[in-house]
Amino acid sequence: AKDDQQNRHEYYRDTMRDGTYHEFVLGNELRRALKNEEFQVYYQLQCDVKSGEPYGVEALVRWSHPEKGNVPPGEFLSTAEAVGVIADIDEYVLQKSLQQVQQWREDGHGHLQLSVNVSQQQFERYNFMEIVADALEKSRIDPTYVTLEITETTMLTQVHYATEKLEALKELGVNIAIDDFGTGYSSLRQLQLLPIDILKIDRSFVKDSDGQDHDASMVRTIINLANNLDCQVICEGVETNEQLTFIKNENCDYAQGYLFNRPQPANDVTKRLTE
Ligand code: C2E
Ligand code: CA
Ligand code: CA
Ligand code: CA
Repeated sequence: AKDDQQNRHEYYRDTMRDGTYHEFVLGNELRRALKNEEFQVYYQLQCDVKSGEPYGVEALVRWSHPEKGNVPPGEFLSTAEAVGVIADIDEYVLQKSLQQVQQWREDGHGHLQLSVNVSQQQFERYNFMEIVADALEKSRIDPTYVTLEITETTMLTQVHYATEKLEALKELGVNIAIDDFGTGYSSLRQLQLLPIDILKIDRSFVKDSDGQDHDASMVRTIINLANNLDCQVICEGVETNEQLTFIKNENCDYAQGYLFNRPQPANDVTKRLTE
């Protein structure tokens, strides 16, 4: 029995060490990747539900790893968070995407709205406001065309702190979206306190909404809630025409999903905008 315990002890010690080691290696790779500009910004269209026309894009990070190829964010974001490089990645994506959208505008492709994801660590940086103000100034973009996507969880960690910070960000002229809405536990009261412009309904609710089942009533309820809060609504993960019809009937403002496009590099979006 004593041997067993000893073995188990070593097993845990080894897995823990391996876990940390993996994180250590990946963390170093991520820092190197930032320096070598291996991160790329992909763009997914956000379309007006009524007209079907693109009204904006969401910037989504991709890692073009020299050996592993295109690595999706799901495979490195939690490590990027754990080793503290996520905020630098966000800053990079913010700068690049602001420049890109301004470029599209200057090239005569109209003025698209830009949505950028903000991690909790980025949001909590003491100088986050300056980072945003700087990036806005450098790109010369009109701030009213920029939306910061912040998850429900990030906003709710410290509601009063978050509210103050969001108010300050809004003074810069940008919009605030609450991301993955419906997956957290915000109360109505908290929602009323937060200065939110846009509510993004999480993909998990849209996935099965054929207009009948339970998730459909969730989508309906959230859209009503958004209307009452004077927010605009984006449905994520719209893949089929049936889903689009459903959310159109529910008066959802915007839709994003594979039905319109998969996240693509800027060049491919440019082609799409030229069509
Ligand atoms: P998110 O912010 O909820 O972004 C939407 C995700 O859903 C994207 O995954 C997108 O490719 C995917 N998606 C969009 N439409 C559909 C659809 O119709 N069907 C399906 N099955 N999926 C769809 P992606 O690009 O892999 O990003 C995953 C998550 O990683 C994002 O979820 C976001 O939380 C995070 N993320 C991505 N880029 C950044 C970034 O620059 N900074 C930070 N902090 N997080 C990021
Ligand atoms: Ca998002
Ligand atoms: Ca989302
Ligand atoms: Ca999501």
